Amino acid sequence: MSVIYDRVALIGLGLIASSMFWAIKRAGIAGEVTGFARSDETRAIAREIGLCDRVCESAREACEGADLVVLCVPVCAMGDVAADISPVLKPGATVSDVGSVKRAVIDAVAPHIPDGVHFVPAHPLAGTEQSGPGSGFAELFDNRWCLIVPEPDSDEDAVTRLEAFWKALGSNTERMDADHHDLVLAVTSHTPHLIAYTMVGVADDLRRVTDSEVIKYSAAGFRDFTRIAASDPTMWRDVFLTNKEATLEILGRFTEELFALQRAIRTGDGDHLHEYFTHTRAIRRGIIEAGQDTDAPDFGRAPRGKR
Ligand code: NAP
Repeated sequence: MSVIYDRVALIGLGLIASSMFWAIKRAGIAGEVTGFARSDETRAIAREIGLCDRVCESAREACEGADLVVLCVPVCAMGDVAADISPVLKPGATVSDVGSVKRAVIDAVAPHIPDGVHFVPAHPLAGTEQSGPGSGFAELFDNRWCLIVPEPDSDEDAVTRLEAFWKALGSNTERMDADHHDLVLAVTSHTPHLIAYTMVGVADDLRRVTDSEVIKYSAAGFRDFTRIAASDPTMWRDVFLTNKEATLEILGRFTEELFALQRAIRTGDGDHLHEYFTHTRAIRRGIIEAGQDTDAPDFGRAPRGKR
């Protein structure tokens, strides 16, 4: 594949940035990739594992001369990073981000983008519960969506180029308006995470009265909740602080549905429960048909002892 950006700068070197780096190298679409993370420890690990062609001592140093700058830090940190790098951004360069919330990132970053520099926000819908520089892998974005969230006045060439970049990393791309993005993600990602955090919290409370049996006999449903609830606390704190309205809207609807199911259980309304579960099973089938998950038993996990 040919080079899409001569110089790419990744700011923040965690799961997403490290996966981007390995996917960029796999595709051969950048001349040089520079990187910066705020802690000495992360920069040392990055150098040790060969993450980035050049690990810099400041975000400004990493961004100097870059054609594409991607902000890969938690959502609430995006504005400060943008303010810091603003003076060194090259005219004609594109600044993008990978934040899980879009309206708040646009509000925080856009004021710091100088004239002549393009700002094209994006969000790859791919991740794991791991974080840090060692957690990335080149295949993370394969066949996953990357939502591109241009502003109405975004430069079309800059948007098309960023789409080509994400496609080369393995993603399918689609454009979406920021507010719509935040509502869709509240349903598909943010609220489910909050429910998982809650369920694991409840089980932990219960553990004290069940003598650790909750952990010992941990079955598939609960285990999947614990995997999600192991996600990075800083990232998820920022998601709920910045996608407040949409998450509260979806949580309200969730609570109503939960009350209806609670009532069906209390009144022994089996028809209601059966109908509801039949409907949700069809949604799962739709996700598998769309190629967004596997229908292998236990999500394709190897049986015990063969992991
Ligand atoms: P991560 O593995 O925890 O890495 C975060 C990076 O940001 C680290 O290099 C960290 O630096 C740096 N950082 C943290 N707080 C900072 C601050 N206040 N100022 C400057 N730098 C800071 O996170 P990630 O999973 O890659 O997530 C990065 C972004 O991608 C987030 O905006 C998240 O919403 C988005 N995202 C995540 C996922 C996912 O599933 N994880 C999926 C899609 C999008 P140090 O290591 O030096 O502390």
